[in-house]
Amino acid sequence: MKIIVQKFGGTSVSSSESRRIVLKKIIDKVKEGYHVVVVVSAMGRKGSPYSTDSLLDLINKEALNPREIDLLLSCGEIISGVTLSSMIREKGYKAKVLTGRLAGIKTNDNFGNAEVLDVDPSNIINSLKDGNIVIVAGFQGVNSNGEITTLGRGGSDITAVVLGKALHCNQVEIFTDVDGVMTADPNIVENAKVIKTMCYSEVYQLAENGAKVIHPKAVEIAQQSNISLVIKNTFTDSEGTIIEKADTNFYNNRKKQFNDKILTGITFKKGRNQIKVKTDDEKNETERLMNDITINKINIDLINFFIDEKIFTVEDKDLPVMTNILKEGNYKYDIIKNCCKLSAVGYKMHGVPGVMAKIVNALWKNNIKILQSSDSHNTIWCLIYEKDAEAALKILHEEFEMYK
Ligand code: ADP
Ligand code: MG
Repeated sequence: MKIIVQKFGGTSVSSSESRRIVLKKIIDKVKEGYHVVVVVSAMGRKGSPYSTDSLLDLINKEALNPREIDLLLSCGEIISGVTLSSMIREKGYKAKVLTGRLAGIKTNDNFGNAEVLDVDPSNIINSLKDGNIVIVAGFQGVNSNGEITTLGRGGSDITAVVLGKALHCNQVEIFTDVDGVMTADPNIVENAKVIKTMCYSEVYQLAENGAKVIHPKAVEIAQQSNISLVIKNTFTDSEGTIIEKADTNFYNNRKKQFNDKILTGITFKKGRNQIKVKTDDEKNETERLMNDITINKINIDLINFFIDEKIFTVEDKDLPVMTNILKEGNYKYDIIKNCCKLSAVGYKMHGVPGVMAKIVNALWKNNIKILQSSDSHNTIWCLIYEKDAEAALKILHEEFEMYK
């Protein structure tokens, strides 16, 4: 059976006009002889009546438990799915809508950010065999007690990839409102350019560090399962971005587009806080600090350890607990709030001298302070103030001529 999975994001299903475009993309694939599995997100973004944010606005989150919140949130994708199915039927095709549970998506119990443990695709396969276009409500699954769970923001991307894996597809199409993965967020950097081919590790770095065009976990699962991802714009005919493994083909294609350019993409993530703690090992403070962080399940990042000082960052959500640990533990510490982690990604930077110097100079020239930095084989991270985030993105995009 020739199966294709197509995922359509919130803006793609937000209005009847956009859904008509989606409909055409689906029917084109049916005409090419594919059995089509469509994964949909909730309609639109903040402000749209049935979007995830609008559903959240209906309730007081503090007063409800995560189970009920997931029950509510799962409705957004079901509404999208049923709406789209009525349009498909109007066109004379058979369509069947499946919730996460009916699509066989089994997760753990972590309401609000559940992990997919297993997928049983038999229901989808039977529905396809019956001649249906199968529409799956994205972003949701079911735990071992039959309770509805959701997969976290952007989770429909995960739905699409786990279904692609279970259905043995070698490609999954992700349709969104931009022309693909771009050198920077095009809503901030006007002359950002589509990156035609990317390897998994580059996209993962961009996605993990703020470029929300694809969920990092979806990239990870695609890599493990050797599924190539195509990210395209629902509203244009652009070829989009193909994400696959870094083989000779990838290197050749990359060279064709970017020649020897060092940076592929830049992005940022706000809501970081830099913590500096003085540690005295006569008093076992390093060990105590690490234990406190572990017990409280705080995720620390950009970690620089010196003998008498430990520097790292925490997300806003962990700041109250982190501050409490530092106060209660009588540590000597400093906190810089409102920071932003800027990430510059490109597999080519490995072993190339001077990349960091160029970044530092460009930012300093524009009075943007770097509070901390770190690097890996394909990424350089700089911690800057949140207020400088957009400017820094534009400056580096120009400096490295990423628009070319
Ligand atoms: P969808 O609802 O289709 O899943 P998302 O809002 O999750 O769409 O992701 C698309 C958005 O990602 C774009 O509108 C864009 O503003 C943002 N974005 C951030 N960084 C990038 C990037 N490097 N390339 C493309 N889009 C990006
Ligand atoms: Mg998304």
